[in-house]
Amino acid sequence: MRRIVPVVTQPGGRTGQPVLPALLGLGQRGLGQRTLAPRGADRYGADRRRRTLPAGVLRLPTIGIDIGGTKVVAGVVNGEGRIVEQLRAETPHKSKSPKVVEDVIVELVLELADRHDVHAVGIGAAGWVDADRSRVLFAPHLNWRNEPLREALSDRLKFPVVVENDANAAAWAEWRFGAGRGEDLLVMITLGTGIGGAVVRHGYVDRGRHGLAGEFGHMQVVPGGHRCPCGNRGCWEQYSSGNALVREARELAAAESPVAQPLLARVGGEVAAITGPLVTEAARAGDPMATELLHDIGTWLGVGLANLAAALDPGRFVVGGGVSAAGDLLLAPAQDAFRRTLTGRGFRPEAQIVPAALGNEAGLIGAADLARALARRFRTVKRSRAER
Ligand SMILES: [Zn+2]
Repeated sequence: MRRIVPVVTQPGGRTGQPVLPALLGLGQRGLGQRTLAPRGADRYGADRRRRTLPAGVLRLPTIGIDIGGTKVVAGVVNGEGRIVEQLRAETPHKSKSPKVVEDVIVELVLELADRHDVHAVGIGAAGWVDADRSRVLFAPHLNWRNEPLREALSDRLKFPVVVENDANAAAWAEWRFGAGRGEDLLVMITLGTGIGGAVVRHGYVDRGRHGLAGEFGHMQVVPGGHRCPCGNRGCWEQYSSGNALVREARELAAAESPVAQPLLARVGGEVAAITGPLVTEAARAGDPMATELLHDIGTWLGVGLANLAAALDPGRFVVGGGVSAAGDLLLAPAQDAFRRTLTGRGFRPEAQIVPAALGNEAGLIGAADLARALARRFRTVKRSRAER
């Protein structure tokens, strides 16, 4: 029997997240912000065609699943984007067959479906998902190569299933319930070990022709720069991500630079024990080197955002992911660099750069909410069968 762990949810809220702004339907900007119903909320992210979801369908609970490198989290999400119950299990090792990961998903879904009247399942996974949202073309953490996940799971579960790239799911959640509400052209950036990206345009997720849009982390910003696992050099995520932060901090520490001494002291002199959260913690405590490292990451973030503004001209950038926990230590230098680098600066409206509001649960909430469009179809099918 696999170990499934219940995740304790705060009363009426998301785990470990400030619940009040979310409960009030407010973004990160809090009480000063108007509570706009997002324009085009009824279009439901699927494509350019207008999809109108009846209010009853918008309220249906669905299950969202977030498949990460270490854990699989599943949650029942209600129509307000709140997680009602959440479970987690360990992610099977990369070497395991795709079926083992499916087993974990099926087990989590069936357990939640025992206790909740759910109507569809949305799966968010790091990796490339095809434009039909049914196949995972490639996943870095799992043994999925052109895997027909949607079909395999729909066959085993009683529910309709949709598969979504994790950054797309997170962007959708922020647009529906978080820091992106009311914005017609939203670009989401998730700063984790690498950079994830997604675009929500006029109420649909812009996935590109093949489902692969939003790989902003692999835009080249430094010709001949640091080598990237994608095979190229000088990718943006080599300069602005958790991995970049850790690489720079460890390099300084390994060079026995005196400026790295306070940071090294925090890990008992062990260079390999330096992590991103540790650097952030040191910067918060006033460590000048840690602050400078975050400043560099933030500056590169701003440069990349200015490039994206040149290409896409969004109204708002929402910045999420683990590194964004550094808050203004990261976003203030990003804002400065963005203003300095923006093409046509001084002669154009500037996009806002705001922190994400939904934290780690954004992917799960977004995947569940995107599955609602299928819940309607599912219901219609059931009804027409019953009528026959
Ligand atoms: Zn790359």
